[in-house]
Amino acid sequence: MTEELFRDDATLRECSASVLALAAGGVILDRTVFYPQGGGQAGDAGELLLPDGRRVAIVDARKSKEQLGAILHLTAPGADLSLLAPGSAVTAQIDWTRRQRHMRFHTSTHLLCALVPHPVDGCSITADYARLDFHMTEPLDKEALTAGIARFVGEAHAVRQRWISEAELDANPGLVRSMSVQPPRGLGRVHVIDIDGVDLQPCGGTHVSNTAEIGAVIVTKIEKKSAMTRRVVLGFAESAAGRS
Ligand SMILES: [Zn+2]
Repeated sequence: MTEELFRDDATLRECSASVLALAAGGVILDRTVFYPQGGGQAGDAGELLLPDGRRVAIVDARKSKEQLGAILHLTAPGADLSLLAPGSAVTAQIDWTRRQRHMRFHTSTHLLCALVPHPVDGCSITADYARLDFHMTEPLDKEALTAGIARFVGEAHAVRQRWISEAELDANPGLVRSMSVQPPRGLGRVHVIDIDGVDLQPCGGTHVSNTAEIGAVIVTKIEKKSAMTRRVVLGFAESAAGRS
C-alpha cells in the first residue's frame, strides 16, 4: 500500500519515503508524490534521490496490477535496482515542469466540460496536449471554445477539492460527466473537484488551485472521430507559437 500524498496536496514536489519492494520494472514506496497514470492523466516522471547523492531516474508511475493500492515507480531499462533494497530511505522528486503541464491541461478539460454540455467518452492528458471526446453530433467551434477557456482563466476561479457522500452523488447523477471513467465506489465518499461557479465533478487527477494558473491554453483541433463523437484537442499557446 502506497500513501498517496498528491491526493491532498497536488503542489508537493518531493517527499521522503522508504522502499517497500522491487517489482517488475520498478519500485514500490511506502508513500509518494508521483501520480500514477489514471483517469486519462499521464503518470509522473522524476527521480529517486539516495542519501549518498546518487539518483535513480523514474520514467513513469502506474498503479500496480499485482498489489492493490500500491504505486509502481517505473525505472529506465538497465537501471541499477541494487541501490534500492527494501527498507532504503529515498527522496521521491517529481519532474515539476511536466506535472505542472498535466495540471494546467487537466484543469482546462474541466473548463471544456463547462462549455460543452455533453457526456465525455474519452480523455487523454499529457505534457504536450490534452484531448477530450464528447458524445455528441453537433459541430463545435474552435475559436469560440478557445475564447470560452480564456474567459474562465481570466476570471481566476478557485479550484477546490472536497469529498461528497455516495448518497449525495446518487442524488445528482448529472455530476458524473464521463461515460468512460466512473468514480470509484464503495468507500462511502467520492472525491470531487469544484471549480467555483464553473464545474463540479468527481475526479481523482491533479489540478491547479486557481484557473488563472492555467495560462494560455487553446483549442488546436476539433475532429469528428465518429458519427457520435467530437474530439477536442488542447495545446499551450506558447508551444503552438513555437511550431509555426
Ligand atoms: Zn480532474
